[in-house]
Amino acid sequence: MSMAIATTRNAELVEIRAKVLAGERLDLDDGIALLECDDLLGLGDLADTARRLRGGSDDVFFVNNLYLNHTTVCRVKCKFCAFARTSKQADAETWEIDDLVAKAVKIRSHQEFSEIHMVGGESPHLDFQYYLDITQSLREAMPDVHLKLFTASEIHHMTKLSGLTHREVLEQLIAVGLDTLPGGGAEVFSPRVRKIIAPGKEPGQTWLETHRTAHGLGLKTHCTMLYAHVETFEERIEHLLALRDLQDETGGFMAFIPLPFHPENTVFERRGWKFTTGMDDLKMIAVSRLMLDNIEHVKAYWIMISTPLAQVALHFGANDIQGTVVEEKIAHAAGAVTPTEAKVADLVRVIREAGRRPVQRDTFYRTLRTFDAP
Ligand code: SF4
Repeated sequence: MSMAIATTRNAELVEIRAKVLAGERLDLDDGIALLECDDLLGLGDLADTARRLRGGSDDVFFVNNLYLNHTTVCRVKCKFCAFARTSKQADAETWEIDDLVAKAVKIRSHQEFSEIHMVGGESPHLDFQYYLDITQSLREAMPDVHLKLFTASEIHHMTKLSGLTHREVLEQLIAVGLDTLPGGGAEVFSPRVRKIIAPGKEPGQTWLETHRTAHGLGLKTHCTMLYAHVETFEERIEHLLALRDLQDETGGFMAFIPLPFHPENTVFERRGWKFTTGMDDLKMIAVSRLMLDNIEHVKAYWIMISTPLAQVALHFGANDIQGTVVEEKIAHAAGAVTPTEAKVADLVRVIREAGRRPVQRDTFYRTLRTFDAP
């Protein structure tokens, strides 16, 4: 479909396109109009155009990383969460520090991840010292691995456990090895939404304030939005604008990751809720790219949207497909090619066949490896 045909289908998209080409910032009404727009290909093209106008190239990034969860025990009971357990549930899991570090070291002996991404539940049975010790132990065991640990919600939880301020908690974690914060826990900032889906969670302002504090301490962080549950289009765009405002102020966000809500094993599944469709996911990626003109990277998170859709998303404004996300089951795999290398090869193929250039990055988006065409 040519752009001339695509853009004439939606007059508002034509107007917004003119703003993008003129380098003008998009506002709340523009964002809502983009979400309402049914010209999907026109929207994708506009997002890709905006990305290129801001200096983006054909490079698409991924990271070789390890996901860890130190505990599944959580007191918060968010209604969208299928991960959390009470300590009495048979499948609840809380790792002893030495065991978790040993597991990571063992995986690293044959899989060269450059980053550990670790988040967990807000367990009432762990104290702040546990968080300091686990950070320090990971740091000492793997001095060259980037430690991306604990959501802003968990940092807030630690203030409750310790009586310290958010700044003091972050300072102590940084002192023992914390490198960056992941972006989880943001959900949707709207108090109305949080009251419905996460009534036990701290306000969105606390998430923002925690990241503001982290940025002030020199910590780079990530940001997210969990979409497609009870939020309105207005609430989605207001969330993006709150992130954009904070980025204007601090410049501390490295990437935005839109996370589609998965209803499986939550109360919403029992109410008949379905997964997002590709249309919603692609729109959200494109609109994120267009609204967040000051956050350099937008991720198409293949784990949640699938690799085929992630390939399409690379033409809708995304320039990162996250990473290898080595998990324990992969650690048990065997074969002549290591699992991580196999996953790296998969990601390289996914990116290349989408017409883009794969770049293996570190957490700060420095190039670690490029891949010649076969
Ligand atoms: S705080 Fe996190 S782990 Fe706990 S219930 Fe909410 S989403 Fe799940």
